[in-house]
Amino acid sequence: MLKGTFPVEKFKAIQTPFYYYDIELLKETLSIVTTEAGKYGYHVHYAVKANANPRILSIISEFGLGADCVSGGEIKAALEAGFPANKIVYAGVGKADWEINLGLDNDIFCFNVESAAELQIINELAIAKNKIASIALRINPEVDAHTHAKITTGMKENKFGINLSQLGHVLSELGSLKNIKLIGIHCHIGSQITDISAFRGLVIRVNEIQEEFEARGIQIPNLNFGGGLGIDYYHPNHLPIPAFDNYFAVFKKLLQLRPGQQVHFEPGRSVVANCGTLISKVLYVKEGETKKFAILDAGFTELIRPAMYEAYHRIENISSDEEVEIYDVVGPICESSDVFGKDIELNKAHRGDLIALRSAGAYGEVMASQYNCRQLPKAYYSDTL
Ligand SMILES: *Cc1c(COP(=O)(O)O)cnc(C)c1O
Repeated sequence: MLKGTFPVEKFKAIQTPFYYYDIELLKETLSIVTTEAGKYGYHVHYAVKANANPRILSIISEFGLGADCVSGGEIKAALEAGFPANKIVYAGVGKADWEINLGLDNDIFCFNVESAAELQIINELAIAKNKIASIALRINPEVDAHTHAKITTGMKENKFGINLSQLGHVLSELGSLKNIKLIGIHCHIGSQITDISAFRGLVIRVNEIQEEFEARGIQIPNLNFGGGLGIDYYHPNHLPIPAFDNYFAVFKKLLQLRPGQQVHFEPGRSVVANCGTLISKVLYVKEGETKKFAILDAGFTELIRPAMYEAYHRIENISSDEEVEIYDVVGPICESSDVFGKDIELNKAHRGDLIALRSAGAYGEVMASQYNCRQLPKAYYSDTL
């Protein structure tokens, strides 16, 4: 069974479970993202929520990306990691006053606004500071991303964005909000999108939406298409970097750009998922009546995606080359959902074997919890190990 290459000897000295980041792969991915986006002059804002580890953030900022934040805490983390405020965009359906004030105080590039009610509050807070808030309207484009229901965001029934039917109302209110400057349209239709036709649908819809704005005499200098590009969770060894070239080409080909218009993206998962691995240890091999369980010392407290989204992560026994056997791979947490995978092929497992849960760099460490009074996992890096 083909496996990733890991410094297994060095891992033996480290307390499991822990996150391991392949910094070379992260840098290679970043260099491809910036090159491919750069071909068309597109702007890339990394979605901090995918992984807010300070070391990872600072490497991403060194490559010149901006940051897409969804909370005040993320704005602080982005600023501390060196992202310039004028490359920070801030989305979220529930921005608290202190978070909006933080954005205003730092003169961030743009608030991605999700409702008419929020527009009013940003305007009031901006007036109090005698500032003009640059905003983009997050529009719910009603495009199906063909992804898991829990990570689709661009449908009518989702809580995100302003529905197309309410756009007219919001635009008519904008005129009276003196401390708001409309600078763009923002859309984000979901995550782990592997069907590129969903992005085609999005571009075509944005072309139409632009025409609606223009019919009202409104020019939009910035178009932001959010994130969502999926990765290959099944083949992290063969296909570690997503096809950013094909992704950006869809926009280049179909988008009807107006002169001077700037195009923005907010990839999260596609940048960091494959560089991260959760390393765990087999505590017990338990022979059930019909099944064999490999019980790990990591659980959904370290990696919640399988329990929360029924997500697949490739699991490898990096300590064993013995014949493959079938296991249910589970964690120690006192919840039935604490299962990483059922009927998984693993090289024969023994107590103490190291198990790699691959492609865990996105929505992994950042979603870790202390449930069951567990410790948060530590992180180690390929270049400093
Ligand atoms: C989560 C999110 C992203 C990033 O999504 P990925 O699927 O990780 O690329 C981008 N923009 C917004 C507004 C988000 O909420």
